[in-house]
Amino acid sequence: MSRYDMISADEALAIVKSVVRPLPAEPVATTDADGRLLAEDVVSPEDVPPFRASTVDGFAVIAVDTSPTRQVVHEITAGAVGQSSIQPGTVARIMTGAPVPDGADAVVMIEHTAVQDGRMVVERGVRSGENIRPIGVDVARGDVVLRRGTALGPADIGLLMTLGFTEVSCYRRPVVAVLSTGDEIVEPWEPVPPGAVRDSNRYALMSAVREAGGIAVSVGHARDDRVLQSRLVRQGIESADVLLTSGGVSVGDRDYIKPALEELGKVHFGRIAFRPGMPLTFAEIGERVAFGLPGNPVSSLVTFEVFVRPALRIMQGDAQSERPRVEVELEHDFRLAGDRLEYHRVMVRWVDGRLVARSTGLQLSSRLMSMVGHNGMVIIQPGSGTVVAGQRLPAILTGPVL
Ligand code: AMP
Ligand code: MG
Repeated sequence: MSRYDMISADEALAIVKSVVRPLPAEPVATTDADGRLLAEDVVSPEDVPPFRASTVDGFAVIAVDTSPTRQVVHEITAGAVGQSSIQPGTVARIMTGAPVPDGADAVVMIEHTAVQDGRMVVERGVRSGENIRPIGVDVARGDVVLRRGTALGPADIGLLMTLGFTEVSCYRRPVVAVLSTGDEIVEPWEPVPPGAVRDSNRYALMSAVREAGGIAVSVGHARDDRVLQSRLVRQGIESADVLLTSGGVSVGDRDYIKPALEELGKVHFGRIAFRPGMPLTFAEIGERVAFGLPGNPVSSLVTFEVFVRPALRIMQGDAQSERPRVEVELEHDFRLAGDRLEYHRVMVRWVDGRLVARSTGLQLSSRLMSMVGHNGMVIIQPGSGTVVAGQRLPAILTGPVL
């Protein structure tokens, strides 16, 4: 029997969230800032546009000018330098994005004009202000345009560049060391002796770390040797903000990860009422944390999703560290284990205005095919008995809904 009391998944997540903190900020080139989270509010140092700009190709005019024909006195292209001006009876040819001349208060689209012998006729009524972007209409100087904690996407990158911010302050990304354990585990490119299993977890977990915004580093693989595992756990935690181990946290004779973590710091929990992944172990080691993930491939990835990913997001300054929660309608009856809170992998689709979930099939913790293609997990309370077609249950979305 494990010495660790079984705690609920909610308690476990609350402990993880209370232990981890955002990492310090660092300057990041805006060109490299995709997906990074801002560590400070961004305030616009200038007005956009900084001058009145034409939104069309046409003629800059005075709206109240009623002269039947008007003389074209300037041609103003985008990027034109030096301010020009017009008076009643005159207009300026102007291109999209060019500065509107002094005196003009509207731009008439070229399609609504006629020109003959250097004189221009307006063929319809003109409203003051039309086709002009006023100074600061897009962004006003002093506006907070991006908030701390924003995950930078294409529009944010564009906005930063618009304002001349070629560098921004972002939270540091956590370095996450990944160690796999087990006498039976071999590298995927090695021959597989009888009884051996290829190491899938280290590679799946490193991929999950990168998807969560972390920097994944491998600490390699450790045989089930207590001294060796202690040494590699120590080495891993010294080289990273977070250590993930796979395997060796159950109650087998050669499960050495819990003792290795106990030597280094405080183990907050070692058993959770959760399926898949009951033996999940979490330790605080100085400023760093370690997760002992179960060895079964599905258990390690699901516990990563539910308990590790939020930690990595918090470390990156994400206030919304958990996945979006939705309510889904079950497409069919689900087969359940029923003894613990279960995160049942599903494919969620949008059907006639409802989110409909279909199971990925057998939920064995060894069966990676139950993860392939999933974009959500239905949260099923213990003792739910059966859950049946048409029932509505909460789910997290782990990927886009098609
Ligand atoms: P353990 O948690 O060490 O008892 O391992 C549980 C199951 O997961 C066993 O069937 C292991 O062979 C398997 N397993 C452990 N580590 C890995 C790994 N890195 N890649 C694939 N399967 C693994
Ligand atoms: Mg093992």
